[in-house]
Amino acid sequence: MLEGMHELALCRSILDIGLRACGGRPVTNITVDVGALRQVVTPTLVHCWGFVTPNTPLAGSQLIVNDIPATIECQGCGACTHLTQPYMVCGSCGSSRVDVVTGREFLVRSIDVATGATTTAAPRDEEH
Ligand SMILES: [Zn+2]
Repeated sequence: MLEGMHELALCRSILDIGLRACGGRPVTNITVDVGALRQVVTPTLVHCWGFVTPNTPLAGSQLIVNDIPATIECQGCGACTHLTQPYMVCGSCGSSRVDVVTGREFLVRSIDVATGATTTAAPRDEEH
């Protein structure tokens, strides 16, 4: 697998969502939540964004990535642990019987559409 292929595929998914949401209007910013467990390299994701957006309403838009830290909850003691390393063990009691609370997110949080760029003041009656 080539480096960056994962991120490129994710960018295509984000683009699809953006295209559906923007209704053809130019987009300035698009914000995505990416969980730490997704193993997405943020700079690579942002870099790939520049490859998928040309000739779309999202060309030149900025991809803003919210990194969501991974959190697990222990089934034994109930403690919540922020994962700083990829080991699924409770930081309190060391149990590996844990549930992932956050860190698997991958969703488009918001899309900022440029305002006033191509809008006309009043719709004109084009009927002949
Ligand atoms: Zn525990």
